[in-house]
Amino acid sequence: MNLPKSIYELEFGHGSIYGEEERNAILEVLDASAPSCGPKVKAFEEAFAKYCGAQYGLAVTSDTTGLELARIAADLKPGDEVITTPISWISTANVIHAAGAKAVFADVDPATLNLDPKSVASKITPRTKAILPVHLYGQCCDMDELNRIAQSNGSVVIEDAAHAAGAEYHGRKAGSLGDMGVFSFHQQKNMVTLGEGGMITTSNRNFYERMLSYRSLCCRTYDPKGKYLPIDESVEPMGMRYWRLEFDGIGFNFRMTDIQAAVGLVQLRKLDQLNARRAEIARRYTDSLKDIPGLKLLTEASNRKHAHHIFAVLITPGFPLSKEEFMWRMFTKKRIKVWSHYTPIHLTQIYRELGHTPGECPVAEALHEQFVSIPIHPRLTEEAIDYAIASIRELAGVAH
Ligand SMILES: *Cc1c(COP(=O)(O)O)cnc(C)c1O
Repeated sequence: MNLPKSIYELEFGHGSIYGEEERNAILEVLDASAPSCGPKVKAFEEAFAKYCGAQYGLAVTSDTTGLELARIAADLKPGDEVITTPISWISTANVIHAAGAKAVFADVDPATLNLDPKSVASKITPRTKAILPVHLYGQCCDMDELNRIAQSNGSVVIEDAAHAAGAEYHGRKAGSLGDMGVFSFHQQKNMVTLGEGGMITTSNRNFYERMLSYRSLCCRTYDPKGKYLPIDESVEPMGMRYWRLEFDGIGFNFRMTDIQAAVGLVQLRKLDQLNARRAEIARRYTDSLKDIPGLKLLTEASNRKHAHHIFAVLITPGFPLSKEEFMWRMFTKKRIKVWSHYTPIHLTQIYRELGHTPGECPVAEALHEQFVSIPIHPRLTEEAIDYAIASIRELAGVAH
């Protein structure tokens, strides 16, 4: 089998794809002295919130820091419990434990790998303060059910929408489906802001103001009416005593720069197009892999628009190789760097030290032995996609 020239994309695949518009946007901000949190950040926040159907957007340095602000808004305290999924990037659970609260892992639906509402309901206790679903691989969770469970006990719902920019549930966008939504613009994600970046969406004014304040050290400016207001770097302070600052919490700095936001504005305009390309690649994979014995595809649930951040297949016992043999041969024989998203969080060393044990989420643990992610991102060429499909079929021992 010939190695395609675009093999590089399969080895080091990540989502970033920039063009002339981003280049020009960067230069424009550079000529405006490239501030932090200036007019471009404001414009990006407004455009992103509008796109998601949320009232407010708050640009931050990453999804991880966005989740940290969301947990501050949700007022998570030591002793509180947050129900979340073990199949996620570790940030999702870390922000819970960083607050001294406890992550309670619910199990997943084997058809989608998303949180199973029945398992979530069974893990509710009087200490449950929030539910933190992840729209895994770009497919929205069963949000009607999760919101219903949350409402029944007064929990806050925080969507980890790192995979789900542009994804929809019953015609509504991720980021508008819970009390707060948190996005990542890291280089691997569906839209990107120069390697790192994030955004929080909410329609709750109290949450927004609290997060705005904590994004920048809980710094408040003196308002002419005699009140201290959260500092908003994109607005020049006005009036007498504009130099007075007040601090009413221990905050950090999670501010996004204008250069990132200017790029984010361009990427947001391209997002539907970038996602359409991902959907096309997903369709190619689905059509070409669905007949392979022992290789199972995940289900696309009804009433969803999938953002196809990750394309995972299940290597079941009917496949001629184990998951690990398959992954290693794909890498060493085919130079395709497949991946495993993710190691269940409760099985990692630190979470075991925190008291978590195997057996907490039997479905997630069993599926961890099977799921493998095939490269999917908008830079993949047709040649690279053909090569990936042919490679998988060859290792499966079926004809091309
Ligand atoms: C990427 C990712 C994060 C972390 O995003 P950063 O922007 O890198 O902090 C959190 N949760 C999920 C599900 C992710 O995929």
